[in-house]
Amino acid sequence: MDASGLPASDKASANFVENPRNITAHNFGLAAERLGLDAQMRTLLRTPFRELRVEVPVRLDDGQLKVFLAYRIQHNGARGPGKGGIRYHPRVTADEVAALAEAMTWKTSVVNIPFGGAKGGIVCDPKSMSNWELERLTRKYTSRIERILGPFRDVPAPDMNTNSQVMAWLFDEFSIHNGYTPACVTGKPIELGGSLGREQATGFGVVILARELLRELGRPFAGATAVVQGLGNVGSFAARALAREGARVIALSDSRGAVFSRDGIDVAAALAHKSSTGRIEGLAGTESLSNEDLLELECDLLIPAAIECVIHGGNAGRIRAQAIAEAANLPTTPDADEILERRGIPVLPDILGSAGGVTVSYFEWVQNLQQLFWEEQRVLEEMERTLVKAFRDVVDRSKSEKVSMRTAAYMIAVERVARAEHLRGT
Ligand code: NAD
Repeated sequence: MDASGLPASDKASANFVENPRNITAHNFGLAAERLGLDAQMRTLLRTPFRELRVEVPVRLDDGQLKVFLAYRIQHNGARGPGKGGIRYHPRVTADEVAALAEAMTWKTSVVNIPFGGAKGGIVCDPKSMSNWELERLTRKYTSRIERILGPFRDVPAPDMNTNSQVMAWLFDEFSIHNGYTPACVTGKPIELGGSLGREQATGFGVVILARELLRELGRPFAGATAVVQGLGNVGSFAARALAREGARVIALSDSRGAVFSRDGIDVAAALAHKSSTGRIEGLAGTESLSNEDLLELECDLLIPAAIECVIHGGNAGRIRAQAIAEAANLPTTPDADEILERRGIPVLPDILGSAGGVTVSYFEWVQNLQQLFWEEQRVLEEMERTLVKAFRDVVDRSKSEKVSMRTAAYMIAVERVARAEHLRGT
């Protein structure tokens, strides 16, 4: 086994760039090596606790029966119940869900909240489905996996193409089987026990962390030029927060294309344009460019907030950002990491950069268990305190161990989970 944490034979046969599972394996391997973890503990920590694959038959609106493939994977629960989103996407695979579940274990650990890691996904194209079809799909999926869910087993949340409405259906279906259980899922509508601040949390959180990162680098945040890839839940709130905090957003994108203006984009106008036309391209006062070109723009801060593996060996040498704050899960491949490190471009790693959402999910779970609700200001202040503390821990570890922020974050996270496993007697 080398630093990737994979046996050599697996590594040789794997597509090292494309498979997100290899990204977590590599990052885990670097941390495990530095921590001197023995082979048994490495195997225990890397192997998912439980992997469930289900077939989900759904009657479509035209009367046809369609069978969807779906997953829920619980990676590790040593520090608490599984926690992680559910993704609806045509390209969901078991490997992707497993990698994202593992990333959740390290994410909840690095910000020190009492959860493990899990993830779910359904192979479907939600954009081509009606609301009724999505509701039937969500209910049937929930009924197929509900026996491994629950407030003290595994607590799902939204991810790509799922939102508070989907979480409301999940909550309702789970409650049909188990009685009223608001703490079974987070990211719910406020009216059903969702937390104030949850929707904004990941986008706002990455901007708080980016501000801390620029401060650490001795660079001003006000007036800093920022580029955001992805304009969904995370990207749109990140763009809003950047504008509010005085950064100059010069480029934005969605899956269909990107827009750029060196003078700065009016974020409120951009979001209004996106919501009225369904796309960001065509925004007045901007020029169009591709998502690939957007990543290579000269800027102070680049925030990938869309999908995995967008910064890779092929483009890392051309990135001209002064710093990268990752809001998407697994946006940077290991070979890109090496190139960025060599070029002195600091990367705030995804397991910390995107942790605002799960931090507020934790607050939602606490509020649901207590049936006692917090003001939005309290939620956002507690999130900021949690994230800034984790940021300081990561920066200090990165300096003391002379490793990247990613390896430092993984070291802190892996160490905590290994300790929990050890204390629990495994
Ligand atoms: P979303 O579905 O709301 O938005 C995704 C955005 O990415 C959309 O604007 C879409 O157009 C864009 N996109 C899709 N493919 C793209 C491509 N090839 N190039 C450029 N843009 C593309 O999803 P989200 O909840 O905002 O999640 C975005 C990322 O953040 C994902 O990696 C997700 O796992 C991660 N994340 C989300 C949360 C959360 O709280 N929602 C928390 C932690 C991490």
